[in-house]
Amino acid sequence: MIKKLYPGGKGKAFNITYDDGVLQDIRFVELINKYNIKGTFNLNSQLMEQQFEWTHPNGMAVKRLSENIVVDLYKGHEVASHTLTHPYMSDMVYGEIMRQLGRDKASLEQLFGAKVAGFAVPFDYYSPQIAQCAKNCGFEYARMSQESLCYTPSEDYYWWQCGIFHLNPNLDSFVEGFLKTKEELALCQIVGHSYDLDVEDMWDKMENIVARMAADRDVVSMTNIELVRYLKAIRSADISGNAITNYSDMELWFSVKGSVVSVKPKEIYSF
Ligand SMILES: [Zn+2]
Repeated sequence: MIKKLYPGGKGKAFNITYDDGVLQDIRFVELINKYNIKGTFNLNSQLMEQQFEWTHPNGMAVKRLSENIVVDLYKGHEVASHTLTHPYMSDMVYGEIMRQLGRDKASLEQLFGAKVAGFAVPFDYYSPQIAQCAKNCGFEYARMSQESLCYTPSEDYYWWQCGIFHLNPNLDSFVEGFLKTKEELALCQIVGHSYDLDVEDMWDKMENIVARMAADRDVVSMTNIELVRYLKAIRSADISGNAITNYSDMELWFSVKGSVVSVKPKEIYSF
């Protein structure tokens, strides 16, 4: 009996993804850093520059972070693209979508001095054309706003469904179910915006979730791009007869007859 595992021989992965690069990310990054949890942060390079601000229905001003603090703030976490200006893309033609994705990627790469390989769509509109643009711009995955509400990571990396939105009333039971599940390559992905933690007064609730994930010895914290790269690699491995063939350039982890084994890049492991 072979079971696929995450890096370090862990059975499950946890990812937290927050969008828009808002002021409350400062407190949130401090919180997850305390537990050594890695996050994915989706940014709009042009709104950052303009210090874009809007008023939440509850009256709170939602402020964006400025360029001069984001580079230090997100160190150790994934920064991904969320388009230049956060448009609703339903009426956009190909060239405009390419500009929104491609220029945001280039600006973020210049600002952070690192490759930006992930994309998350703003709002809830997604289409085959946006998926194609994400591919054409060189992104390795594109995340939709649609929730999967399950622990199975998406098979299509350009139609990546998020696990659960943090304001979903079933968040607690989703987390409980994840901590109990024995599903292969189970993933708990929570997405949202850190300003909601102020608006909904849920800092303690999120800290409790993060602390439980960090304390669980069978859970590994991964960014979205780390997940995508690892899943692509392990899903391409061949398991047949009494051998596992790792075709990828990453170390892969399995449970073989109850023991945890790692298979080096390009290696064939016989059992
Ligand atoms: Zn957004």
